[in-house]
Amino acid sequence: MKIEVITLFPGIFKGFLEESIIKQAQKKAVVSINLVDLRGFGEGRHLTCDDSPYGGGAGMVMKCEPLFKAVRKVSRRNSKVILMSPQGQDLNQTVAKRLAKQQHLVIICGRYEGIDERARARLVDEEISIGDFVVSGGEVPAMVLIEAVVRLVPGAISKQESYEKDSFYQGLLDWPHYTRPAVYKKMKVPPVLISGNHAAIAQWRREQAEQTTKKNRPDLWADYLKSTKKK
Ligand code: SAH
Repeated sequence: MKIEVITLFPGIFKGFLEESIIKQAQKKAVVSINLVDLRGFGEGRHLTCDDSPYGGGAGMVMKCEPLFKAVRKVSRRNSKVILMSPQGQDLNQTVAKRLAKQQHLVIICGRYEGIDERARARLVDEEISIGDFVVSGGEVPAMVLIEAVVRLVPGAISKQESYEKDSFYQGLLDWPHYTRPAVYKKMKVPPVLISGNHAAIAQWRREQAEQTTKKNRPDLWADYLKSTKKK
């Protein structure tokens, strides 16, 4: 998979691309991530990328021309162009799974009041939100999207860390995890986990996952019951 990120602030991605799973995934050629500095497509001597809004009001708007140039430069026939936006569909595991199957993602990071509506209408295939709140730019949302998607691309994470056991993958939240020591400040690890009985462990984990889902996310639990009835 190839991911291009169009941003006015490529520096924000530095540590993100150079550590842990995202670094390894690039090293293993599971994914290649390219930062596109939008400033390079800016207009005039100052490489301007924003201007004041028609109709007046505070804040600036990202101009059409640099965005058109940048997207045209990196797009191919099979590209999916995504705009990070609070107006988009909510990012969830289903969306991440779907995007993990794409060959080429082009992610546009908005800033200021957002991008000119004509750039959105003409260039963008899909708008994605990371939740019902506003952050100052699309960079952090893009990193959230990239992390969610890349760990689902085959080869990105090892079998041990397998995403199939993660929250949401099977419609349930995760079960509780414990590691050594077996007793910490008088708190004991549930005996079943030390029993060596794999069937009992699997059953305990399943029950815990179901209980947590029921308690913390009644909405997910209802969906889960519906889907297990269908099967
Ligand atoms: N005026 C806009 C907010 C602009 S915030 C509004 O009210 O909808 C600037 C940029 O940050 C946006 O263009 C978008 O790219 C990004 N952004 C802010 N909140 C986001 C969210 N919840 N999900 C995804 N991107 C977001």
